[in-house]
Amino acid sequence: MIKSVCWNLTSECNLNCQYCFRELNEEAQNFENNLVVLNNLKEMGVERITFSGGEPYLYPKILELIKEAHDMGFKCYIVSNGSLLNADNVRDCLRYIDKISFSCDSTKAYINDHIGRGADSYEHVKELIPEIRKYYGPDRLMIDINTVVTSTLLNDLKEVDVMFKKINSELSMYGISNWKIIRFYPLRGYAKENKDLYWIDDNIFARIKEYFESVESFVNVDVRDIEDMDNDYIVSPCGILKQSYKGSEMVIKSLRGGANRVQ
Ligand code: SF4
Repeated sequence: MIKSVCWNLTSECNLNCQYCFRELNEEAQNFENNLVVLNNLKEMGVERITFSGGEPYLYPKILELIKEAHDMGFKCYIVSNGSLLNADNVRDCLRYIDKISFSCDSTKAYINDHIGRGADSYEHVKELIPEIRKYYGPDRLMIDINTVVTSTLLNDLKEVDVMFKKINSELSMYGISNWKIIRFYPLRGYAKENKDLYWIDDNIFARIKEYFESVESFVNVDVRDIEDMDNDYIVSPCGILKQSYKGSEMVIKSLRGGANRVQ
């Protein structure tokens, strides 16, 4: 039985990371169709949904959809670049969320600018987290940081060490549940097109893994290699349930027109 899915609600994003693996050619469904998807996930026995994208807060009725999911008994997680959240809206945007994961691939402004995330993206997340904690403590809302390792980002131990120290000194006091260090995965989209530019060698990734196994951290660090991402269940923006396996995706079925409709 499938217990958790990652639902890529929209392929739209306000940022433009060239190693991004969001779906590029699928349109988001309207709210009513997504309610059908929700019902089908419930019937299948799914317990947890991670809303993702693209940038999920760009989906027009994201707050209504999350509330529906919450009221139906799903645990609701969300992955966001954080750019649309601020001190004024964060309380409402996270009201029914159990965990938010911020994408944060570098702590350096010039690198974030270069990769298309915006120079102030790390500083923005750093300022946002204490605002979140004003309303939602660590027992109510988990906060994770997701960092993608590519051949151009965090590719040597000196860079890893700088980022590690910054995250530990600047964010750990706010109760970060997990810092996920994720190996670049050319599953689809730009990531697949630009695989040769961003692919990170086994040896380099193994050294990064060893580094994290050898340091003491205030934040729990979870290093994820390609095989750790195999067998994840994904719902695409147009409502197709898929499973990742060895760098590709297998279509399981459509969730738009009835639980048993096979695509
Ligand atoms: S990696 Fe995340 S923030 Fe960057 S373009 Fe893709 S969805 Fe947007």
